[in-house]
Amino acid sequence: MRENYRDLKVAVLGSGTVGAEVVHRLLAEREELGARIGAELDVVGVAVRDVKKQRNQSIPKELLTTDAESLVVQADIVVELMGGIEPAKTLILRALESGADVITANKALLAAHGPELFDAAGKVGAQLYYEAAVAGAIPIIRPLRDSLAGDEVNRILGIVNGTTNFILDLMDSEGQSMDAALQTATELGYAEADPTADVGGHDAQQKAALLAQLAFHTAIDLDDVAREGITEVTLEQVQQARAAGYVIKLLAICERIDGHGVSVRVHPTLVPRDHPLAAVHGANNAVFVEAAAAGSLMFYGAGAGGPETASAVLGDIVSAARRHVVGGPGVAESTHADLPMADPGVVPTSYHVSLHVKDEPGVLAQIAGVFSAEDVSVEALNQSTPEHAEGEPGLATLVIQTHRAAEAQLQRCVDKLAELSVVDAVAGVIRVEGS
Ligand code: NAP
Repeated sequence: MRENYRDLKVAVLGSGTVGAEVVHRLLAEREELGARIGAELDVVGVAVRDVKKQRNQSIPKELLTTDAESLVVQADIVVELMGGIEPAKTLILRALESGADVITANKALLAAHGPELFDAAGKVGAQLYYEAAVAGAIPIIRPLRDSLAGDEVNRILGIVNGTTNFILDLMDSEGQSMDAALQTATELGYAEADPTADVGGHDAQQKAALLAQLAFHTAIDLDDVAREGITEVTLEQVQQARAAGYVIKLLAICERIDGHGVSVRVHPTLVPRDHPLAAVHGANNAVFVEAAAAGSLMFYGAGAGGPETASAVLGDIVSAARRHVVGGPGVAESTHADLPMADPGVVPTSYHVSLHVKDEPGVLAQIAGVFSAEDVSVEALNQSTPEHAEGEPGLATLVIQTHRAAEAQLQRCVDKLAELSVVDAVAGVIRVEGS
C-alpha cells in the first residue's frame, strides 16, 4: 500500500445483474483490491430505483440510495451500471465535470453519445472506461486501445451478441426452427422478453460502432453502421450452409476498404467451418482481429452474465484507481484518423444465393448469364434438397456461391435473377466472410 494515500471514493449507479456483483466484490475483496491498487476503495453509495426491493446479493442497506445526483459529485470513481440513455448520460456528464473517472458497461449510451461523453472527460483529464460494454468478460477494448496501439488493425469479425449466437447455434446443431430456438433461448434466460434489440441486430450494431472507433481511430456514427438482424434466417439456409461446409453467424464486421475508407456493418454471415469463429457455440462471444503486424488474434469467452461482466468492470475500476494513485490525466480517445465511411456498394464480399427455380432445361444457362453480364464469377453451384424443404412440384432449389465482387455488383445480380421467368423466388442471400 502506498504510504498515506487516501481511500478512493467509489459510487455505483445500479445494483442489478452486474451492479450487485460489482458492489459485492468491492466490499468482499476490499483488502486484496487495495493491495493491487495502492489505495483502498471506499464504496460511498449505490444508487437504485427502489431501495426496498428484495435483492439477491446482500448489500448493506445504508449504502442504497435513490439520490444518484448527490452520489456522483462526491466520488473519485463513478461506476454506471443502470443502463439506458437517461438519467445515465446526465449523471455521467456530472461525474466527469466534477473530475471523477467513470466506468460504464452501457454500449447503447456510448454508441449514441460517445463523442459528447469523451469530450467531457477530455476537458478535465478524467477517464471514461468501458471494457464491459463490448463482449462482457472478454478483454477487447483495452487490447484494441493499448496493446494494438502500435499496430494497424485491418479487420475485425465479431460474434458480439450471445442471444443470436445461441439461437443460430441451436438451429445448426439441433435443426430447430428460428421460432423454436428463440423460445428455448427465452426459457433458458438467454433472450429478453422483448428480444428485438438482439435478434434485430441493434445490440451488435452498437458494439460494432465501439470496436470500429477504437480500431480505426475514427469517430463512428451509429447511423453509418449497416444492420441486418437474424429474423430472416431460415432453417433451410442453415441446412444449406451446413451442407456446403459453412455455419451462419451474426457478425459485427469492421474493415478498411482500400482507397475508400472503412466499412462497419452487422449481418448474418456464412463462416467456413474451419474458421475459429465457427467453433463459438452457445451464448459465447468472440472477436477475431486481423492486424498488419500481429496477424490474426482471437478473443473468446463469456459475453454476458453478472459475475463475468463484473470481472471486466472491476478491471476498469482497478485501472482507474491506479491512475489516481500515480497521478496524471487520463488517456484521451483517439479519433484523429477521421477515415471516411466507404460507400456500401464498393465493399467486397461474396454471396451465397439460394433460388427456387423451375425444374426445366436451360435454367442454368440463364442464371449463369446474369452473373457473367455483371462480371461476377460463380465459385460453386449446387442443387439442394434439404430434408425439411417443402418441395413444390416442378421447382428445384439452387444454391450459388460467388467469388468476391463489389456489393453493388452482387446486388444487381440478385435483382436481375429475381426478374427471370425461370426463377420462382430468391429464397435467401447471405454474405460469406472468413474464407
Ligand atoms: P439491470 O439488472 O436491469 O439493473 C439495473 C440497475 O439500475 C437496477 O439496480 C436498477 O434499480 C438501477 N436503475 C435503473 N434505472 C435507474 C434510475 N433511473 N435511477 C437509479 N437506479 C436505476 O441491468 P444489468 O443487466 O445489470 O445491466 C447494467 C448495464 O450493464 C447495462 O448498460 C447493460 O447493457 C450492461 N451490460 C450488462 C450485461 C449483463 O450480462 N447483464 C453484460 C454486458 C453489459 P432497481 O434495482 O431498484 O430496479
